[in-house]
Amino acid sequence: MATAGKVIKCRAAVAWEPNVPLMMEEIEVAPPQEGEIRIKVVATGVCHTDLYHPFEVKDKRGFPTVLGHEGAGVVESVGPGVNDFKPGDKVIPLFLSQCGECKFCKSPNTNLCDCSWSSKYHDIMSDPTTRFTCRGQPILQFMGTSTFSEYTVINQIAVAKIADDAPLDRVCLLSCGISTGYGAAVNTAGVTPGSVCAVFGLGAVGLAAVMGCKNAGASRIFAVDINEKKFEKAKVFGATDFLNPKAYDKPISEVLAELTNGGVDFSLECVGNTEVMRTALESCVKGWGVSVLVGWTDVKDFSAKPIQLISGKTWKGSLFGGFKSKDSVPNLVCNYMNGKIKLDKMSLEQVNDAINLMKTGDCIRCILNISK
Ligand SMILES: [Zn+2]
Ligand SMILES: [Zn+2]
Repeated sequence: MATAGKVIKCRAAVAWEPNVPLMMEEIEVAPPQEGEIRIKVVATGVCHTDLYHPFEVKDKRGFPTVLGHEGAGVVESVGPGVNDFKPGDKVIPLFLSQCGECKFCKSPNTNLCDCSWSSKYHDIMSDPTTRFTCRGQPILQFMGTSTFSEYTVINQIAVAKIADDAPLDRVCLLSCGISTGYGAAVNTAGVTPGSVCAVFGLGAVGLAAVMGCKNAGASRIFAVDINEKKFEKAKVFGATDFLNPKAYDKPISEVLAELTNGGVDFSLECVGNTEVMRTALESCVKGWGVSVLVGWTDVKDFSAKPIQLISGKTWKGSLFGGFKSKDSVPNLVCNYMNGKIKLDKMSLEQVNDAINLMKTGDCIRCILNISK
């Protein structure tokens, strides 16, 4: 590529400080250094985590930054020491890396690579090193990915190479939301054939959890949300029963217990709300019920009565659906290509419109087309 080795000027949505709209800016993107890959971003989803840090945490550290971690693109150039990627490869950036060397990567029991953003920097949003500048000052790279930019530079341990014929404006969802929800059902919960499941929260992650429950053979899947507009979509992904907690004058866990003779086998909390986490646990059947925390939050503590666990329930959580990222994302893309995983598309021009739709809960997932 003609741009290899040179600084690229391109457009990016910059978050200068917390709680202000993102600004479209021209930024400079430096060439990739040792072990790094410069990527032309083609499409990106807008995930709740992109809102959570600038709008909910209210921590000024980590700004200015370029948000975005649910993208897909094409390799523009590679730095020294990169042998597994070449210009033109279709790739997905990974906020959860897989270095292959750390004790967590070497363990079959976890996907939490010790080199990833979520292990090192999640409370300050970004690694302090960056390849971005704008108006003469460094711009940080949120989650090490920064997909709200036409070009980004990412370490090769956090990039997955995918099939050449994959449509990037769909498979970008596999770099966070869809893999997170789907994997939470099939990996973390270990949903079994014939089981009864409940999914709380029907955004992209929740719908993917419904799809995971269905693909794992669940016989009944309760979709729970206070926005009934989402039930129709949940049905498409495999939900069989629909509950709006606001429509009952008793806790939804009691409603579920009555409908299922004691509670569900598996529940998945896909909101990131500690009250809902408690409800999801209380909705499980005693003896063997498993409840999984899928929604991201670390602002509040959660609580529950100890009897919930003493009675034989299991409460657990996972990040990125428990998938080892570099190994699994190419296979997930194949599962989309062969129809096992459904991905919906919703295209929007304006990043701040997408953020507002996300805040009001009126979209499942917004996908921005970053470049042709
Ligand atoms: Zn995300
Ligand atoms: Zn690792």
